[in-house]
Amino acid sequence: MSMGSVNHILIETHGNVAVVNFQTEKLNVLSHTLRSDLYQAIEQLLADDHVKSIVLAGSAKVFSAGADIAEFSAGTHLNFPSLHDLIHQISDAQKPIVAAVSGTALGGGLELALACQHRVVHAKAQLALPEVHLGLLPGAAGTQLLPRYIGAALALDAILTAKPLKLATLTDSALIDVLTETDAKQAAVEFAQTLTTSTHIKHQNLELTEELQALLQAKRDALGNKPQHLVQHAILSAVEAALTLDFVAGFAKEQALFQELTSSDVSKSLRHAFFAEREAKHIPDLDVAIQAKAIERVAVIGAGTMGSGIAICFLQAGFPVTLIENQQAGLDRGLALIAKHFAGQVAKGRLTEEKATAIQANLATSLEYSALATVDLAVEAVFEDWDVKTSVLKHMDTHLPAHAVLASNTSTLDLNQLAAQTSRPESVVGLHFFSPAQIMPLLEIVRTDSTDQATLKTALEIGKRLKKTAVVAGVCDGFIGNRMLNAYLRIAGLLIDAGASPYQIDRALENWGMAMGPFRMCDMAGNDIDYMIRKHQLKLNPTKKFSGFADQLFELKRFGQKTQKGWYDYSQGNRRGDVDAEVIALIDAYRAEKGIQAQQFSDEEIVARCIYALANEGFRLLEEGIALRQSDIDVVYLAGYGFPRWRGGPMFYATEQGLNTMILNMQQFAQDPTTDASFWQVPALLAQSVA
Ligand code: NAD
Repeated sequence: MSMGSVNHILIETHGNVAVVNFQTEKLNVLSHTLRSDLYQAIEQLLADDHVKSIVLAGSAKVFSAGADIAEFSAGTHLNFPSLHDLIHQISDAQKPIVAAVSGTALGGGLELALACQHRVVHAKAQLALPEVHLGLLPGAAGTQLLPRYIGAALALDAILTAKPLKLATLTDSALIDVLTETDAKQAAVEFAQTLTTSTHIKHQNLELTEELQALLQAKRDALGNKPQHLVQHAILSAVEAALTLDFVAGFAKEQALFQELTSSDVSKSLRHAFFAEREAKHIPDLDVAIQAKAIERVAVIGAGTMGSGIAICFLQAGFPVTLIENQQAGLDRGLALIAKHFAGQVAKGRLTEEKATAIQANLATSLEYSALATVDLAVEAVFEDWDVKTSVLKHMDTHLPAHAVLASNTSTLDLNQLAAQTSRPESVVGLHFFSPAQIMPLLEIVRTDSTDQATLKTALEIGKRLKKTAVVAGVCDGFIGNRMLNAYLRIAGLLIDAGASPYQIDRALENWGMAMGPFRMCDMAGNDIDYMIRKHQLKLNPTKKFSGFADQLFELKRFGQKTQKGWYDYSQGNRRGDVDAEVIALIDAYRAEKGIQAQQFSDEEIVARCIYALANEGFRLLEEGIALRQSDIDVVYLAGYGFPRWRGGPMFYATEQGLNTMILNMQQFAQDPTTDASFWQVPALLAQSVA
């Protein structure tokens, strides 16, 4: 065995077999450097007469995590050798090249393996084409090669869903030469020693059978022509090309479709969302040398809706949890909620009975705050009441050990003032979960004026361990998400008083892409809650203008789903609610009484007012330093409020439309006396961004 090395690459030879080992610190992402190194190493081995076959081996964990997505925007992915150059070099080689896939092969990484004539794969390796999540298709021959290896139906499924290939079911396919439970590299070397010549599967043409034609048609019909499905349609066209064209023409077609997607708004938005989520984890002023505190035991105080859900989150992440209440009945209610959740997980096959039992064995309960003495982190989720919260925080302060983190799930109370009630405000942080906490991915980490770096770092670490999408926010009423929601609901409410119907508003925003229109959402959360939030905001700012009709709906006790009637009628069992003629009549009567001449609003105008309300409040949050970056605001809205990911988030959307356009729209909205002219005043930061 001899060895030589070029940068990330280590070449070993076993008799006539040369192994190209490649390993970078960055998951073998196919950066320009790695591509160059691979290209050069392969070129050298192809020219070496002593070498009869070549094995490409990534690290034990990662074959390759794929292309460097940042290069797509910069255009450097095309620099020689591009991934295409590498794919051509490997698939045209006159010597057999075997991919030893020991671990993850994603996207371009899998395409690299597909370009090889053979693959030896570890049974636990993860092979997937996740490009669709970024609004792209596999653009390095993946759409042309995978159908040739495993058939078009399975390939389509893999590319459209991004799900990992089920390797055990593919051992008879050309994709897998050897599926091994032991060392894939070793197995690949042994396999390569048996090879003489090989031709690449790309030279075999496929056929568009009637069955496949019907499959493609059925998928197209199911997709319809919604703008966000442009990506799926492109994938269908690319796979169709694999069935009707030879490899060269099919690859060219794939390339053309890939280019189209790269420059599409949908893909730009999805890629923005991906990078925004990554960026949210980095807090610019957080000293990298600061260590997070070690958190082993956790307490949750208050076993209501939120407390139970939060306890479930920690239990599922493997933390021992003590649930604390001030009365047995509250504890019993919480325990029942938690037991119901785990029974549901078992019934749905997401957890085994044993696992569910083991997780719940990690749950202890107490009616005494003295139970806090042994925990490292306590999260309070008691009633949203100043006196109750301060008393609970004082108990936490008394009983928690000195190193502990004191977290609050408050939605509306001033966390700076709450923290000041303790003797250690530097250890207080907001962990604002969303309901249901065990399902909603968003976690706002609220940093007070005194939260210290170690506490903030710990909160970020907790977010990671709970697998939440965490965003850091400063203290203000509503933090990032609810403050934007409140602005959005207020503007939507004023549209009703002025002439739009709640059904038109919901329909317009749902057609635009929101998971749920504002009024359907209020019916779900409860119009009584919405009423309380309005009153709370009025207390903070008595001149704020709100829909008067929304208050009337509250007074009629139309609270929404829980009372069967709200903006919609739920009495017929329709969970999405039925349009209610009574509500329309009530709105008409309200306008008549107030002497309001109903205006007509187009769907576009409704969407513009509501989405610009979000972005406008977003600019204020940035201006006040509550949010660190525009992209953080997008992450909050994508992860917590059903904003369409393919539109990137409210800030990205507004920016892509042109901030000038946003300002012109706002100036025009401000002219309408039925809305709130002061809200539409252009924030200085927005004006500056345009200038
Ligand atoms: P809830 O009324 O369902 O639960 C509150 C629980 O706290 C009750 O079980 C009560 O018995 C318990 N409790 C009250 N005083 C206590 C004390 N002194 N010691 C121990 N336990 C005590 O309320 P919730 O909806 O779960 O809200 C809890 C907190 O979460 C509030 O601060 C709320 O603003 C916040 N929050 C709620 C939501 C939501 O959608 N419901 C979302 C995010 C945050």
